[in-house]
Amino acid sequence: MCHTIHVTHSSDHLDHLVRRGWTPAGGQDAILPPHATRWLASRTGLDTVSTPAAPDSALTVQDSALPDDARAALAAVVGERHVLTGREDRIGRTGGLSYVDLLRHRGIGELTAPDAVVVPADPDEVQRVVDVCVEHGVGLVPFGGGTSVVGGVAALRGDKAAVVVLDLMRLDKLVSVDPVSRLAVFQAGVVAPDAERLLAEHGFTLGHVPQSFERATIGGFAATRSSGQQSAGYGRFEDMVEGVRVATPRGDWRLGVAPASAAGPDLRQLVVGSEGAFGVITEVTVRVRARPTVRRYEGFVLDGWEAGAAAVRALAQGGVLADVTRLSDPQETEVAFTMSGGWKTSVVRKYLRARGILEPALLILGWEATSDDELALRRRATLRALKPLKPARLGKPAGDSWLHGRFAGPRQRDALMDRGVCVETLETATYWSKLGALRTAVRAALIESLSEPGRTPIVACHISHAYETGASLYFTTIVPRAPDDQEAQWQQAKVAACLAIGGRPGDGPLGTISHHHAVGVDHAPYLPAEIGDLGVEVLASVKRTLDPEGVLNPGKLIP
Ligand SMILES: Cc1cc2nc3c(=O)[nH]c(=O)nc-3n(C[C@H](O)[C@H](O)[C@H](O)COP(=O)(O)OP(=O)(O)OC[C@H]3O[C@@H](n4cnc5c(N)ncnc54)[C@H](O)[C@@H]3O)c2cc1C
Repeated sequence: MCHTIHVTHSSDHLDHLVRRGWTPAGGQDAILPPHATRWLASRTGLDTVSTPAAPDSALTVQDSALPDDARAALAAVVGERHVLTGREDRIGRTGGLSYVDLLRHRGIGELTAPDAVVVPADPDEVQRVVDVCVEHGVGLVPFGGGTSVVGGVAALRGDKAAVVVLDLMRLDKLVSVDPVSRLAVFQAGVVAPDAERLLAEHGFTLGHVPQSFERATIGGFAATRSSGQQSAGYGRFEDMVEGVRVATPRGDWRLGVAPASAAGPDLRQLVVGSEGAFGVITEVTVRVRARPTVRRYEGFVLDGWEAGAAAVRALAQGGVLADVTRLSDPQETEVAFTMSGGWKTSVVRKYLRARGILEPALLILGWEATSDDELALRRRATLRALKPLKPARLGKPAGDSWLHGRFAGPRQRDALMDRGVCVETLETATYWSKLGALRTAVRAALIESLSEPGRTPIVACHISHAYETGASLYFTTIVPRAPDDQEAQWQQAKVAACLAIGGRPGDGPLGTISHHHAVGVDHAPYLPAEIGDLGVEVLASVKRTLDPEGVLNPGKLIP
């Protein structure tokens, strides 16, 4: 039994191309409470300088270089009003949401706008837009939610005279649901909240909840091998992908006919993670699950990073991870306790000290299930494995506090940037035996690079994705912005961290250059160390086969 459901969407108005930071100006969550500002000042040396974003009118944007004949050909496919060459629209699709992207939208550094934004209506129009770009030698950047933090949607021309952003916002339909097989087919531009809302009508969930949930799209998740906060329970996005439809310069390509296959290498996985360099994903078939009806989130505290990591490893290797399993190191725990409005901080600290916990490492566990019995069973199994490690319990309030604030990070980042803070994240993953060394190396690199007289960085870290053999590490850095070259301040720190992940010469990488943010532009130089020159050659030859003219997402993925 299949259904086709259409979502009504405001995309026809095309009035939301202007997108700066996460929160619309004046958004409530974006206010940094005074106690947090005071704490940051004492901890990092932050003064009270205000550095608001520059108005659009102050930004320098080059004129569109899209040739008239290419523009006319694109308009013939999607209609005049869906080829946008106006300054504001092009600014609205300039770059993603990395710290450096946001600096550029604040008037710091060079803004590289696309020559046009093209907004096709369906997979057939996407294919024809790709064909026009090939015919006219125009670069094409697929754009989902634009939440890339690695330069994945940067409007680079490569060797082309012009580049257009292909915005997938009008591909916003749930195409079909197969409740027997538990499969759903989505068009690529469906944003995650819409996907969940549409599946809920059928009693299903995808269970993919990254922190970028509110903005990111199904196609973007597939293109970047995304990983959500509930990855321990629902898997990474690539585990959910059953099939893909891709518009390539060589034509429409569909993959996925069975849940498992021995018909050669799994080519679906070549498309998943291809970051728009091999084709534009127009449809994704995903595995869906019964929608949970009950959930419970709780907080625990262990003494120090090592004890916390050992606890997560015990859960992972015992096969009893909670759906959300998230361990903050002592630095991140301090930030979480303080920023959450003094969340009974002094009481909590007193309680922990009484339990002999001197370096609190906060562990959030969350279970979701379709019945109370199922939830109780799974929770008991997790807690049984945790008990020998003697965690202190903070109970439901701590868990609910995390759940309530799970999407606050991006908004707080805007507010922090308004206050003159350099705030950015980076992530990696490795095997358990190397996890401690990797955390130490990346922390040291960031601290050394960012420390200056009067400026002390906070480098905080958490595990949010755990596996039997290892885990991810996610670093957040907060430091007062350098008064002079603000872009270089972070770029140098990022290079130092990436080199630390690469390990000592001759020893091989300590971890992967990205666990879930993808390669984009920023990580491309570090890819050969991870997959070898031969690996890069394999990717380049796939690219040559699918995109012989090299129009797709110039400068991304392949170094
Ligand atoms: C605040 C914040 C929090 C984040 N948290 C997480 C997290 O928890 N987990 C996580 O995995 N990531 C996270 N990210 C990174 C980002 O959200 C993911 O990479 C996400 O998968 C990108 O989806 P998107 O729709 O925004 O894609 P975009 O940013 O639009 O594009 C990302 C890349 O995929 C390509 N692409 C997009 N759509 C298509 C398509 N249909 N076909 C082909 N190529 C395409 C683009 O060209 C680009 O290279 C976060 C980012 C931010 C800003």
